[in-house]
Amino acid sequence: MSTPSKVAGGCLCGAVRYEVNFKPDHDFKSNAFICLCTQCRKQSGALAMHFFNVTLPSFTWISPTPSALTNYEIIPGNHRHFCRTCGSFIAWQGDSNLSPDGEAQLEVCAGTLDEEFLVGRKDGDGEVVGGTGFGEVLCHPEGNIGWAQNEVGKVTAGLCGTRYKYGTDAGIKC
Ligand SMILES: [Zn+2]
Ligand SMILES: [Zn+2]
Repeated sequence: MSTPSKVAGGCLCGAVRYEVNFKPDHDFKSNAFICLCTQCRKQSGALAMHFFNVTLPSFTWISPTPSALTNYEIIPGNHRHFCRTCGSFIAWQGDSNLSPDGEAQLEVCAGTLDEEFLVGRKDGDGEVVGGTGFGEVLCHPEGNIGWAQNEVGKVTAGLCGTRYKYGTDAGIKC
């Protein structure tokens, strides 16, 4: 699988935009994460949320309407960034959630990536041009799955990855 050096995404209405410039040694597999926690479900309306972690220097907000970005902390210090206009959940950021190298990081909601980066570019007939999408790299099938205690039976059982009963930091696999 080829890996991207740069991707971009944003909210549904376009007021909030971001770009990511990956470090040359970015580990796509270990930074792919599926969250099955109730908080992410409530915020997104989805039963499972795919994220990819990036360190803060790799991530830049480039919003045309910066004031549209806001965040909600159901747990103080855990910022759930979203667009106040259209409601899109963009990224999760924990003040004490550092990368293995001790750097501040952001968990980007993979579904907010622009289609050309997630699925791939489309040709004039609307068909995806092979090898142009990075969804399988960013949402790596051998990545981690957190809060698997909240599995929805056979509905989420098919998700690929290493399952952790709680957050991955607790280290309890299941
Ligand atoms: Zn928006
Ligand atoms: Zn979650």
